[in-house]
Amino acid sequence: MSIQRSRSEMLYAEALEHIVGGVNSPSRSFKAVGGGAPVFMKRGSGAHFWDVDGNRYIDYLCAYGPIITGHAHPHITAAIVQAAENGTLYGTPTELEIELARKLKTAIPSMDKVRFVNSGTEAVMTTIRVARAYTKRSKIIKFAGCYHGHSDLVLVAAGSGPSTLGIPDSAGVPKSIASEVITVPFNDLASLQQALDHWGKDIAAVMVEPIVGNFGMVMPEPGFLEGLCKMTREAGALVIYDEVISAFRFHYGSAQTYAAFPDKQAIEPDLTALGKIIGGGLPIGAYGGRKEVMAQVAPLGPAYQAGTMAGNPASISAGIACLEVLQTPGVYERMEALTIQLADALQQSANHYGIPLTINRIRGSFSAHFCDHPVTNYEEAQDTDGEQFAQFFRLMLDQGICLAPSKYEAWFLTTAHTEQDIIETITAADNSFKTMRAG
Ligand code: PMP
Repeated sequence: MSIQRSRSEMLYAEALEHIVGGVNSPSRSFKAVGGGAPVFMKRGSGAHFWDVDGNRYIDYLCAYGPIITGHAHPHITAAIVQAAENGTLYGTPTELEIELARKLKTAIPSMDKVRFVNSGTEAVMTTIRVARAYTKRSKIIKFAGCYHGHSDLVLVAAGSGPSTLGIPDSAGVPKSIASEVITVPFNDLASLQQALDHWGKDIAAVMVEPIVGNFGMVMPEPGFLEGLCKMTREAGALVIYDEVISAFRFHYGSAQTYAAFPDKQAIEPDLTALGKIIGGGLPIGAYGGRKEVMAQVAPLGPAYQAGTMAGNPASISAGIACLEVLQTPGVYERMEALTIQLADALQQSANHYGIPLTINRIRGSFSAHFCDHPVTNYEEAQDTDGEQFAQFFRLMLDQGICLAPSKYEAWFLTTAHTEQDIIETITAADNSFKTMRAG
């Protein structure tokens, strides 16, 4: 069974003439899943979207994370329309920005002060600058396979998109910059201690996705974040959490306030980077942290960071509206219940057909790795069957189920997915595993 996508193919050919690689973000290309035209989408509503050929898909890509309330949620749409009617940009402060900042601070108390930017990349990039300004040191420790956007310093051993395309260490990053980054394996405190012992006085910050979303979904092992924070502080460096994916994904708050970590103080970072969900589907990023650290930022301090579009009323209004939806009692519990139903059925079905599958589920999201071992770090995520994933991805797409075209990316549910969607997805997955076994 294969659905017809001739208009996507035609548009892709045309896009290739004008847009580099035919896509405006490399992770949208189908290079890692056999190549060819990606699906050109035209419209979305709730948990579904429709392509230019009129095919309907159940969406588990969810724009790589931001779309947690489904497409065109009426509350968010109304907020955007109202913002647009009042004018899209003033270049002055607005009251709306205070409201979103207050909401973020209440949910993530380690952020005494916040600054809005336009993307996760900008947010992370600036936390590094601020940490360097504060500590007057230059080196950064990051964890292999974590992805922190596309600024120079963090395109070293970068997961998700760069890994999918086989370029975890990007060309164009000068050696002098790459040499400022030390990479250690996730969930490995001994390696972190070794790096800190060796480079200690030069380390400005240790940066981590506290719950990883970029080589699948991976929880830190018990004690990992606590140990990371303690060792980093002892070395006189700052802890930066990249919560661009994890904030508001698992509960109304972020990884650092998640119930899985009982000793909140022991895992509190100095700086946090945010993005994705906090903009309700419009471009946004934010960073924040301890008052004295954030005092480095201009106009208070000497670390410069600015943005013509930063804090624009449309993004901020969409963000406020999205967080309001997420404050509805029971939304995370409902997403989790549906995700358990789906993940358990996928596992059972794969087992039934003898296809090795490791599922890492965290509340309303999960990753499914084609392998017969646990996935707790980047190396283990790399050691999974990309060809099997590609086949599964194609089979699912042809049955109207849209996943991210990469074995490193997560499946995301939204508040709009229904039990009917889950049942359809389970049936499609069962068909897919059956075909894979036969092939
Ligand atoms: N940090 C993390 C953890 C991310 O997952 C991403 C994007 N996938 C980014 C930073 C970069 O965000 P953006 O694409 O908005 O620049």
